[in-house]
Amino acid sequence: MPEFDLHCHSTRSDGLLTPAALVARAAQRGVKVLALTDHDEIGGLEEAREHAHRAAISCINGVEISVSWNDQTLHVVGLHIDPANAELSAGLKQVRGGRRHRAERMAEQLEEAGISGSLDGARAYVTNPELVGRAHFARYLVERGYARDVQSVFKKYLASGKPGYVPHRWASLEQAVNWIKVSGGVAILAHPGRYKLDGTQRVTLLQEFKDLGGAGVEVISGSHMADQFAAWAQHAKRFGLLASAGSDFHGPGESRRDLGDLPDLPAGCTPVWKQF
Ligand code: AMP
Ligand code: MN
Ligand code: MN
Ligand code: MN
Repeated sequence: MPEFDLHCHSTRSDGLLTPAALVARAAQRGVKVLALTDHDEIGGLEEAREHAHRAAISCINGVEISVSWNDQTLHVVGLHIDPANAELSAGLKQVRGGRRHRAERMAEQLEEAGISGSLDGARAYVTNPELVGRAHFARYLVERGYARDVQSVFKKYLASGKPGYVPHRWASLEQAVNWIKVSGGVAILAHPGRYKLDGTQRVTLLQEFKDLGGAGVEVISGSHMADQFAAWAQHAKRFGLLASAGSDFHGPGESRRDLGDLPDLPAGCTPVWKQF
C-alpha cells in the first residue's frame, strides 16, 4: 500500500529533510498516511502534523526506540503514541542521553583506526544536538573519501564488530514496549529481517515481544530484501502479529527506498492501519 508509509526520519534525528520538507515530499509522492519515526525523539511531530494538515495528508505520531536485547540492538517503532505523555518523554530523554559519550568513544576508536577529526566531522552533520548517531559519522567518512557511500561505510567501519563500532546499552525491550503502550501507541518491531537471528532466536524474540504487548512487525521495510517480505508475513501470521510497512527513508540519494516507494503487504497479513 504505497499510501501508507509508517517509518521515516527527519533532521530531528538522522534524516536529511526537515519534518516540513519530509511531509511535502510524501504528499507529492502520493503518500496519504505518514508516520514520522525519528530515533528516540518526538520533537519533530508537531511540525510534521502542522504541515500534513496543510498538505491534506494524515500524520501519525511515531518514534523509533533503540533497544538492547540479548547482545543485539533492535529497533521498536511506536505508532499513534501521545507525544505529551510524560513517561514516554522521560524514557526517550534517558535513551538519548547516552549518545554523546558513545560518539566520543566512536571517535576515539576511529582515531585508532587512523581516521582523525571524526567527532567534529560528524557534528557538522548533526541537526539535533541530543541526537548524534552513526549516520552522522557515516556522512563525514564518505565526505573524506573513506568509502564511496553510506552503505559501504557501515560495512567497513560502523557495523557491529568494525573499528568504529561501540557496543551501547539502550532501552530494554520491555521498557520500549511499555513506554509506547503507556502513551496509547502500538509497538512494532522495526525491520526484523535486519537482525542476526537463527530460527530459535527469532521465535524467542517474537514470543517475548508478543508477551510484552508488542502489536506487530514491519513486513514491508526499506531495510528488507524482496524475499524477506513473504517470510516476515508468515512469521507475523504465526505469532498473531499485525503487519506494518515503512520506507525507513532518511534522505534523497541515501536511502534504498523513497517515501511511499513500497509494495502492497503480502496476502494474509492484517495491516496495522486497521487499528487506526
Ligand atoms: P545509531 O542509532 O546511531 O546506531 O544509528 C542507526 C542508524 O544508522 C540507522 O537508523 C541508519 O540510519 C544507519 N544505518 C545502520 N546500519 C546501516 C547500514 N548498513 N547502511 C546504512 N545505514 C545504516
Ligand atoms: Mn537512522
Ligand atoms: Mn532502524
Ligand atoms: Mn529507521
